[in-house]
Amino acid sequence: MLTVEEAQAKVMAEIVPGEAEVVPLADAHGRVLREDLVARFDAPEADNSAMDGYAVRADDIAGAPVTLSVLGDVAAGHLAQRAVEAGTALRIMTGAYVPEGADTVVQIELTDGGTETVRIDKALARGANVRRRGEDMRAGQTVVKSGRRIGAAEMAMLAALQKTTVRVGRRPAVAIVSTGDELIGVDEPRAPGKIVNTNAHLLAALVRETGAEARVLGIVRDNREATIAAFDDALQSDFVLSSGGVSVGAYDFVKEALDVLGAEQKFWRVAMKPGKPVVLSRARDRVVFGLPGNPVSCFVSFHLFVAPALRKAMGQEEHLFPAAVRARLASPLRSAGDRRVYFRVRLTSEDGELHAHPLATQGSGSLTSMIGANGLAIVNEGVEGVEAGAIVPVLVIGEIA
Ligand code: AMP
Ligand code: MG
Repeated sequence: MLTVEEAQAKVMAEIVPGEAEVVPLADAHGRVLREDLVARFDAPEADNSAMDGYAVRADDIAGAPVTLSVLGDVAAGHLAQRAVEAGTALRIMTGAYVPEGADTVVQIELTDGGTETVRIDKALARGANVRRRGEDMRAGQTVVKSGRRIGAAEMAMLAALQKTTVRVGRRPAVAIVSTGDELIGVDEPRAPGKIVNTNAHLLAALVRETGAEARVLGIVRDNREATIAAFDDALQSDFVLSSGGVSVGAYDFVKEALDVLGAEQKFWRVAMKPGKPVVLSRARDRVVFGLPGNPVSCFVSFHLFVAPALRKAMGQEEHLFPAAVRARLASPLRSAGDRRVYFRVRLTSEDGELHAHPLATQGSGSLTSMIGANGLAIVNEGVEGVEAGAIVPVLVIGEIA
């Protein structure tokens, strides 16, 4: 059986970054940047004031307290009409260009605030409170590299560079196939033996969180023909993500259907819990993930295998895998020791230290074990238990409060 790392390497080997497309700036948030962002101008474009105060010559205030005559105002967005000369000052607002002749800004708090004349109480070093031209970025400088996911900071940078359009990775379409005779839709009446198809909603949300496009194709009954037909249709999308039907049950048809469709199976089982039966296949040049049916198995195997693949497919080059941290365990974990186990935990930051609180139920069908889980604590093969207070490795899969 493959280790998780071996399986991840096999997944990533199947993925090449897909095409890029040009989108309006307003649609760029959450997408993967596919061009280097290069500053076209120095920013700021000229020396400007970091404070509301007075633009002065440092030499004039060396003997503070001194009084200077005020020649007028220079507000943000406006240019000074006069230069500062010996013995004079201009009242200046934050962001306004420092006028000719001045080299220093005295913040208003160090003055009497006068408009005709101003008393400066304190000498300042030359250049104080001046933001220098180009101190943020220089023309020609690469400020964001291709391959980065576009968040709020990148949106601000794109705007600063006046990029009204931007090249981003195309969103791969991910077909979501839910297998199982027991499944009903959210709006169908409950019936004995039937359960709601929660995986379709779980997986669609996880797909969208990566930035890819989810296509929910619906429920497929557990028979050979229906399963073949469903995968045949699903293979029109860039990726196929199925749940259920990959175990050794008498009604598990996913692998057989993929065989019939000429798929090349890359692996079937991974030494992990939950989620041992995970299939990776390639068919008609599409990558197919056959995830197990249990919701938590879907959840964990999505974070470990599918999300990194989708990110790479969009051209993302960093943070492909969940970050690993070390956290102090709040309550003990028990394992059979035969496989690596991923326990759902709630990571908290307490007094500068991360703590991992295992969710109360850890069954692979437990939806409650996913609510509030922002970490997957790892207990390795061969280890049968970890006591409270021990430090454990945890994969971060959500925001830490
Ligand atoms: P399977 O992998 O098909 O043997 O399914 C394993 C378990 O997951 C069974 O208890 C199924 O009822 C459950 N399951 C399968 N598919 C889904 C689904 N789409 N939503 C919720 N639970 C499911
Ligand atoms: Mg099934």
